[in-house]
Amino acid sequence: MLILCPYCRKKVSPEETDHCPHCGCEVAMLGRLIHASRDSIKLALEALRDGHDREAHDFAYEAWGLKHSREAAAVGLLAAVSIRDPIEIPRWIRRRRACEV
Ligand SMILES: [Zn+2]
Repeated sequence: MLILCPYCRKKVSPEETDHCPHCGCEVAMLGRLIHASRDSIKLALEALRDGHDREAHDFAYEAWGLKHSREAAAVGLLAAVSIRDPIEIPRWIRRRRACEV
């Protein structure tokens, strides 16, 4: 997995190094956060598949809290629609739009 260094914006693989080889910025923690967010998205999708919509919504929130991503917003929207939550549906739509900028 490649990420952009938050300081110099060069591509870095946090699996291969704890620090950006270009500027020395610490990237290991960032890599762990992104992995954790992806794990939460996977758990949300599995919960949706199994019909555990409320649990899926909680996992989507967890993923969003770790990293604001289009994927987290998309699965959050799916879960919010599944639980027919009139407050969360527009919130997830706004979050998804915010990721498109
Ligand atoms: Zn860097």
